[in-house]
Amino acid sequence: MEIKFERFHLQADLLSPLKEFESVSVPTEVRIDPLTKRRSRIITWGLPPTGKFDFSQLTAESKECFFCPENVLSKTPQFPKEIIPEGRISMGKAVGFPNLSPVGTYGSVVVLCREHFLHLNQFTPEIYEEALSLSIEIIRRIMAFDPDTRYWQISQNFLLPGGSSILHPHLQVIGDPIPTNEMEWLLDASSSYYYRNKALYWNDLVQIEQGLGKRFIASTGKIHWFVPFAPIGFNEVCGSIEGHSSTTTLGSEEINSLAKGIVSTLKYYEDKGLNSFNFSIYSIASEFAFQPLIRIISRTPIQSFYLNDWTSFEVLHSELTSNIVPEELCREIQPYFP
Ligand SMILES: [Zn+2]
Repeated sequence: MEIKFERFHLQADLLSPLKEFESVSVPTEVRIDPLTKRRSRIITWGLPPTGKFDFSQLTAESKECFFCPENVLSKTPQFPKEIIPEGRISMGKAVGFPNLSPVGTYGSVVVLCREHFLHLNQFTPEIYEEALSLSIEIIRRIMAFDPDTRYWQISQNFLLPGGSSILHPHLQVIGDPIPTNEMEWLLDASSSYYYRNKALYWNDLVQIEQGLGKRFIASTGKIHWFVPFAPIGFNEVCGSIEGHSSTTTLGSEEINSLAKGIVSTLKYYEDKGLNSFNFSIYSIASEFAFQPLIRIISRTPIQSFYLNDWTSFEVLHSELTSNIVPEELCREIQPYFP
């Protein structure tokens, strides 16, 4: 197997005012992702936590939104009749409909629950099971209408730092006939790996990570959870979904495992004083060298004076600076997984 975990050790020397101007050395590790060769910087310092944010005012001011139960079945858009004749579709408490402000060909919203706001430790596996099942049903129905739409994401942006203007928890289900940049990078690199090694990168990676035991969190059914060697987001947790090329073929057991892993990660974020996050499930139909992947990352917690976690490094150099060592994150989050 050609999977390599390459890293560079950098060091800054300075006279520190925090130590009476004694000489100190501050290390930084640059890690290279074994698949995409993208670099990440692991820094050894971080800003102190800001304490729990009081959501009561924000919740009170924004309640009875379009996604709340009194409005969701009357004030949200409907699918064209030829795609989903009933206009909107529901599964348990989850409700799905087209996004009023789409960013591509097929943009749908899936409202997760009746509650206008949930803390990260209030999300349950049942909430995600229903919402993911509904998202996959939307993808299946749209693909039956338009099979050329092969590139799909099921994503969540939670709270303002995560890029969501609406507090009410919801998913984005987005499909296009062309990939996003990230999908193309993952697909190209996975395909090249397949042709060189006659093996699926994701299976090889899981096998290696399981053997090393430093970043492998747990397997829930066919979903294998790990902390990536070179993260592209803060507190990043990944789940590789074995045995499928796209989410459309997932069964209830796999959806249940996926839901449990998301909830475990969110509980860990809550305990770390975090409250905002993003996740995305990458799904590409009919590609034997790829299998669906979920990436969950935390964002800077919402607070009175918001500090953006993307600096010139991330925005203009495409290089993440992470303030937790992946192996340490793995040790901390492992007890949260079933
Ligand atoms: Zn609401």
